[in-house]
Order: sequence, then C-alpha cells, then structure tokens
Amino acid sequence: PAVIVAIDGPSGTGKSSTSKAVAAQLGLRYLDTGAQYRAITWWMVHHGVDITDPAAIAAVAGQPEIVSGTDPAAPTISVDGTDVAGPIRTQEVTAKVSAVSAVPEVRTRITELQRTIARAAEGGIVVEGRDIGTTVLPDADLKIFLTASPEARAARRSGELNGADVKATQEALVKRDAADSSRKTSPLAKAGDAVEVDTTDLTLQQVIECVVTLVEE
Ligand code: C5P
Repeated sequence: PAVIVAIDGPSGTGKSSTSKAVAAQLGLRYLDTGAQYRAITWWMVHHGVDITDPAAIAAVAGQPEIVSGTDPAAPTISVDGTDVAGPIRTQEVTAKVSAVSAVPEVRTRITELQRTIARAAEGGIVVEGRDIGTTVLPDADLKIFLTASPEARAARRSGELNGADVKATQEALVKRDAADSSRKTSPLAKAGDAVEVDTTDLTLQQVIECVVTLVEE
C-alpha cells in the first residue's frame, strides 16, 4: 500500500533536504508544497497583482497552472509552462509568499492540487510543508514536525545563501514564521499525532536516519 509521510515545520529546520533524502532512500515520490506557494506568488508578482490586496489575489488565484515534478532526485516546478525553480527563490518572492499564501482562495486551490498529487503517487510520497499533517493529509501514515532553535535555522539558511548576514536572515525568518503561524487559514502547526524532532544538535544524516526508522517501524 502507498505510504504517505507528512513533514512539517518552520523554515531552516532541514525539511527539504530531509524529505528529499527520505523519499529517495525509500523509493517514494516527493512534493515540496512551499515551492507551489512560491510559484503562485511569483505569478502574482509577474502579473502585477497588488499583493497587499487579498481580494485582488483571491480574484485571480485560479488562473496560474502550477505543475510539480515529484522525482526526489530532480524535483521540478513550473507555472503556465515556464520553469520557475530559480525565480521562486529570490528575496522578493520569499518576502511576499506569506501574504499570498494567507489568502483562503489560494490555500483551497493549492491544497486541492496537493491532494491530487498525493493520491496519484504510486508507492507513496513524502510531502513537506506547514499544514500537511493538520489540513492537507490528516490521514497520513506518519507525521513529522521538525524544529530547531532560531539561531540554528538562521545559520543554515545563511549557509545556503552563501554567507548572507546571519542577523538579517534570522529577522526575515522569524517574521515569515510569525506570519505563517498566525494566519487564520491552516497556519503552520504541529498535528496532535505528529512526532516532533528537534534538529538543533543533529546532523542532516542523523535526522534522515531518524525519519527513515520511523517510517519503517
Ligand atoms: O518551505 P518554504 O520556505 O519554501 O515555504 C515558503 C512559504 O510558503 C512559507 O513561508 C509559507 O508562507 C508558505 N507555505 C504554506 N503552506 C505550506 C508550505 C508553504 O503556507 N504547506
């Protein structure tokens, strides 16, 4: 039977690296739901939608066609046929994604897409995000909630950004997590039946092993 693994948590906890590696090791598909919210945000910016206006966002939320490739070795993301893997990682999109993903019409649309992908995944899938265990796939076979200290998370993100100022990174990260945790529709949250893993003092390899063990149990 197809195994569904939900991995949630704030940014900088190693969610993506862990999820991809676990999926690859276990022969499962992989879905990065943050990339989908980034892709719809990129589309809004690209089309000049006023992202401070939730009604304007809601009005066009159904328009972009978002396609996610779920091979953990080479995940892809496109909007209306354009590969946006690069553009969705800019500081501009990162700064605007929380506002766009707080709009209920956006969440309904993207959640539906996520459920369709998870249902279609032969053999199973690892789905990473903020609300997968609570809202998108409440029946997941295993739910993991990754945490780490704010310092550890900022340090990891700065490393990824080639040594960007750790303090500025930490501030931006704290701000995004606060917005994601306080929105009304399916906020960043730990499901009651999720296993919490604090990654602060663990290596990536240790986190991967921990999750693989939990899936195999
Ligand atoms: O995981 P990543 O940092 O790429 O996610 C980008 C943003 O997408 C998050 O800060 C959050 O606003 C939004 N998101 C969400 N729900 C998810 C995944 C991501 O709202 N399941």
